[in-house]
Amino acid sequence: MPGWFRSRPAARSRAIDPALWREATAGWLFMRGLPQESNGRLKEASERFLAMKHFSGTHGLEVDARMQVEIAAQACILVLELGVEWYEGWSEIIVYPSQFAPEREVMDEAGVVHVTNDAMAGGAWLGGPVVLSYEDVALAGDAEARVAGYNVVIHEFAHKLDMRNGDPNGFPPLHAGMDAGLWKSAFASAYRDFCARVDDADRLPEARAQAALDALPLDPYAAESAGEFFAVGSEAFFETPELLAPAYPAVYEQLRQFYRQDPLARLGPGPGSHA
Ligand SMILES: [Zn+2]
Repeated sequence: MPGWFRSRPAARSRAIDPALWREATAGWLFMRGLPQESNGRLKEASERFLAMKHFSGTHGLEVDARMQVEIAAQACILVLELGVEWYEGWSEIIVYPSQFAPEREVMDEAGVVHVTNDAMAGGAWLGGPVVLSYEDVALAGDAEARVAGYNVVIHEFAHKLDMRNGDPNGFPPLHAGMDAGLWKSAFASAYRDFCARVDDADRLPEARAQAALDALPLDPYAAESAGEFFAVGSEAFFETPELLAPAYPAVYEQLRQFYRQDPLARLGPGPGSHA
């Protein structure tokens, strides 16, 4: 629908057709147990989000209404209780048809800069655009093919929240009443533990290493840095809270306070529960 978002540039929100909303959001893990009232507010937040953001496709991809709604809903679940204002200050969302491999410079642990062109599913720029691979956006909604806990939109938008106070370092601006010391100690000890578990898995014979990595409560990419640990932890918080909360309860509690949501409680009593 060319011009769909350009026709009324001053609008504060773009109405989403209720049928399109239901269809586009039915498959996401983070929607499990979401009360009807919250679902309605998520739709309203997504409508405001669509008015704030400009989508562009690359390689001839047309980012149609459904794709925009899918991206908006996933981005807005993070700010459902915070407000879409948390995404102010930038406007561009660039969507590639599939993973992309830009040439870029990365610094290793020794401070040496390398040029890489590793395939990426997404990216977030400080003060600039969010870049997404649509194949990966759609994957999280595909019950047959998805890897539970993997959600590129939640990941990149968690970086955006983290960037509200500068470089994405796993320390977003906390709310009044939250204790920065508790946040830091919860994340630092979980990050240390997780990195050790990834190292242990990597030392296993190749045939067993993959199974050990698959059994971790988070995607091993979380071991890259404190900033990635927060972004991957946010994916798990919304998508697989039943894995994150028992593995790292203090991190779950800090994320519960930060996002002002309790996705684990939405799932209700699980199979081993006597509640
Ligand atoms: Zn990341």
